[in-house]
Amino acid sequence: LIDKGQAEHSVVTTCAYCGVGCSFRAEMKGQEVMRMVPNKDGQANHGHSCVKGRFAIGYATHPDRITTPMIRARISDPWRVVTWEEAIAHVASEFKRIQARYGKHAIGGITSSRCTNEETYLVQKLVRAGFGNNNVDTCARVCHSPTGYGLKSTMGESAGTQDFDSIESTEVVLVIGANPTDAHPVFGSQMKRRLRAGARLIVIDPRRIDLVRTPHVQADYHLKLRPGTNVAMLNSLAHVIVTEGLLDEDFVARRCEPEPFARWRALVAQDKYSPEAMESVTGVPAEMVRDAARLYATGGNAAIYYGLGVTEHAQGSTAVMGIANLAMATGNIGRKGVGVNPLRGQNNVQGSCDMGSFPHEFTAYRHVGDDAVRHSFEQAWGVTLLAEPGLRIPNMFEAALDGSFKGVYIEGEDIAQSDPDTQHVTAALTAMECIVVQDLFLNETAKFAHVFLPGSSFLEKDGTFTNAERRVSRVRKVMDPKGGYADWEITQLLAQAMGYPMHYTHASEIMDEIAALTPTFHGISFDKIDELGSIQWPCNEEHPLGTPVMHVDEFVRGKGHFMLTEYVPTSEKVSTEYPLILTTGRILSQYNVGAQTRRTANVMWHDEDRLEIHPHDAEERGIAEGDWVGIVSRAGDTVLRAMISERMQPGVVYTTFHFPGSGANVITTENSDWATNCPEYKVTAVQVTRVNQP
Ligand code: SF4
Repeated sequence: LIDKGQAEHSVVTTCAYCGVGCSFRAEMKGQEVMRMVPNKDGQANHGHSCVKGRFAIGYATHPDRITTPMIRARISDPWRVVTWEEAIAHVASEFKRIQARYGKHAIGGITSSRCTNEETYLVQKLVRAGFGNNNVDTCARVCHSPTGYGLKSTMGESAGTQDFDSIESTEVVLVIGANPTDAHPVFGSQMKRRLRAGARLIVIDPRRIDLVRTPHVQADYHLKLRPGTNVAMLNSLAHVIVTEGLLDEDFVARRCEPEPFARWRALVAQDKYSPEAMESVTGVPAEMVRDAARLYATGGNAAIYYGLGVTEHAQGSTAVMGIANLAMATGNIGRKGVGVNPLRGQNNVQGSCDMGSFPHEFTAYRHVGDDAVRHSFEQAWGVTLLAEPGLRIPNMFEAALDGSFKGVYIEGEDIAQSDPDTQHVTAALTAMECIVVQDLFLNETAKFAHVFLPGSSFLEKDGTFTNAERRVSRVRKVMDPKGGYADWEITQLLAQAMGYPMHYTHASEIMDEIAALTPTFHGISFDKIDELGSIQWPCNEEHPLGTPVMHVDEFVRGKGHFMLTEYVPTSEKVSTEYPLILTTGRILSQYNVGAQTRRTANVMWHDEDRLEIHPHDAEERGIAEGDWVGIVSRAGDTVLRAMISERMQPGVVYTTFHFPGSGANVITTENSDWATNCPEYKVTAVQVTRVNQP
């Protein structure tokens, strides 16, 4: 239900789904949400919303919510309902036992975009200060970790350069590996309005996404490349810009380091990266690539928007650097209408990275090996901290399988469904002795858990989320937590039980600590967000009202740094046994693993994952619309129903991963980005055959 009658009061809060971070008014009667109304004063959404946000209250009050702590000795045992005191004492006792037996590095924590900034900060603090190691990671490992690495290496800050409204000054929109109308619907609509008003559009995507051709928008160029060839394409575009004299030489001379630029220029100028030479690799006609490069470089203010179609590759970080190189080479940085804009997938994936939940970084992307930074945290937290990075999520799995990692505290992330190569993940989970899942529902990961702690939805707690444009917005409590505690309070209870003191009485005190320890957050507090509506970091003495556009007079790192972006083909190859490439993505009405949206009215629009396949490939295999098809990869196999679609190119198939039984990640492999281990979800060689209904 979305409308139940007259409200008595309303509370402004932030959508807990995608990286647009829409502001809503929760209209309330007592503790009951009558309806969610998009906030006309919302600075990210200006009164708009999509079908996900409007229906979000459905999952918060769903009968599947688990509201009592539960424990079990073995995962084959039934759950036993226990008190909070018993549950917390049990976790602390188990974690201490594991550390005493296997060493202090045998446990860790995983946090998620579904946590607020304050909750994420506390989880990494618990791990570093309470567990005594750096084994903390976040769901960004499997989505935008290459963004952090690539943008920091080139421009000095691990975040997008612009605000959403910057697009109102854009004349050329380049979308690569993103599907904004499905994954970021409110910003996708803003982009379409700008395109209808005359901005030109280049789409680089293996699929014909909606933006390519709708009743009111048509892309000037759709570079329908083969999956896995982003870096080849970016180097081809750069080749045209360099060899046809389309560089912004003045910008590069003033703003960028000369030697790295010269090396990059020499690299991409090589004949091997000409669109003609790359045509057999990317599959895109050379003349179209040349025209698109000319438009991007000379069409006026040009902005690049990208998503997981860039990052989730073996060369994800290289592609992010290639995008930053293009923007710097053409002077499209540092003012409204231009820039490099990662469309962060989940509501708080930017925040989960900002808050130091990586094994190698404290808040604001500062390395744990930096003595001055580490000492500042040691002084504030009253402990000695380790200078060596801890385990990333894939390293935790490896360590679990070799017997050295035995316990994990997972807040808000369903790794058994969302991470690739499910068989590998479940083998690792099965090898552990104490898995603690803190969530709303008994998700796929909870099947392997020994302790379940009932978490709180975004309606049940105070805090902040940070959206894709670095905008920190308030999440406000409108009802009491169904399990009794907000997530940050549970983390605090666990810290106390582990022997590390935490005494916060409100989430605002956690933000005050974050601000004190984090230069880009020095000026942020709950009171100031209440006053301004929201704040885009950096917000500090230099930028007291926040920063919509970064890198204005100089890059955050000083001079822009061109990174070398040699194209290296992925090792995941098609063969006679696996002749098609599977790529994965999302659909408008569902969100991530679907644990929330499947429990709302959104299932009306989409109630199963399907395999999109081109008519030629379907005909060759005798597959008709709606037939069951078996999909086999080198990692595993699953069965889905077929959807015949001309959006696909021949040789490429596509599916989503919103439903646990569909097994999309049973097929995906362990291949990952060379720099960050972000999985190569976008390229899996498969065979598809018609099968009988399973
Ligand atoms: Fe806005 Fe995204 Fe929520 Fe839709 S899912 S209402 S676009 S934040």
